[in-house]
Amino acid sequence: MDIKSLYLDELIDEMKKLNQPAFRAKQIYEWMHVKLASSYDDMTNLSKDLRGNLKESYPLTRLELVDKLVSEHDKTTKYLFGLHDKRVIESVLMKYRHGNSVCISSQVGCMMGCTFCASTIGGKERDLTASEMLDQIYKIQALSGERVSNVVVMGTGEPLDNYHNLIRFIRILTDEKGLNISARNITVSTCGIPDRIRDFANEGLPVTLALSLHAPNNEIRKKLMPVARIYKLTEVLDAFAYYYEKTGRRLTFEYSMAEGINDEEEHARELCHLLKGYNCHVNLIPINPIKERNYVKSDNKKIQNFKNILEKNRINVTIRREMGSDINAACGQLRKSYLELVDKR
Ligand code: SAH
Repeated sequence: MDIKSLYLDELIDEMKKLNQPAFRAKQIYEWMHVKLASSYDDMTNLSKDLRGNLKESYPLTRLELVDKLVSEHDKTTKYLFGLHDKRVIESVLMKYRHGNSVCISSQVGCMMGCTFCASTIGGKERDLTASEMLDQIYKIQALSGERVSNVVVMGTGEPLDNYHNLIRFIRILTDEKGLNISARNITVSTCGIPDRIRDFANEGLPVTLALSLHAPNNEIRKKLMPVARIYKLTEVLDAFAYYYEKTGRRLTFEYSMAEGINDEEEHARELCHLLKGYNCHVNLIPINPIKERNYVKSDNKKIQNFKNILEKNRINVTIRREMGSDINAACGQLRKSYLELVDKR
């Protein structure tokens, strides 16, 4: 039983089994999700007996800090955390003028196989539980002393491939009796699984959804993302449009740019055509080359030119600031280099 992944009403039911009243369950919930206690010993308003009982029957998940890298450019901090089964995940704290943002992982590794991404090279090891996703935010708040206002599910893993845990995670994170982060301040990024996007739209959670598009057509997309061999762009975009219809949230498209692959003027024009009529925002990301693959980052002039073409077609577009590029901040790079080091030992 993973007590930190329970909704409050489930926790109340669970504590009934120990003959504990509802208010006791509420205290425990508050300790876990507001006061961010990392052990039962911190829960000083519970009796010693109860704490002992809980320790035995409901071990609390917690993350061990394995490594921490701070960028000299922008203070972006990358954390490597150990899980109870000795697997490792990474999370990132980014400081912006408008507040602090944490980027979390949703799985250990990833099975989607995007050809430019470090997270997927060793495949997927397992899904993360809701509590392990929450703990990344809780632990970063505790370690940094910073309040987190924005959460992006853009670290290792495909969140919609870990659907039920993701929903649980979002509901607890946005619970007014928990950390109470607004759903509007949460972004979930997906490689695009149409049925899951529709399910997600039906949850009634006003979360921002970002689609990893990366290409203006199926042919290029298939080269970059194996998932594009299963779902055509039209199917993914239809599901995405449904998401907008249901939630009213403006859609975000991520477009990572690699030299000679998807960064030509013709690609920009094709993209304009593809996105015509969507209330959307396009985020251009200079690809972050990983040593295992031969992709080269598009040069700034090309990216700027690409942006101009989109703007001329009245598409909202920004170039993503590269944060923490000096600290292995591309998806999965820190975890990957850590695992290689351990392998060599
Ligand atoms: N699986 C989800 C979320 C994790 S990846 C998804 O596909 O959206 C988060 C984003 O980073 C995705 O847009 C992904 O394509 C992009 N990304 C991963 N590795 C990258 C790299 N080396 N350079 C640029 N973008 C990368």
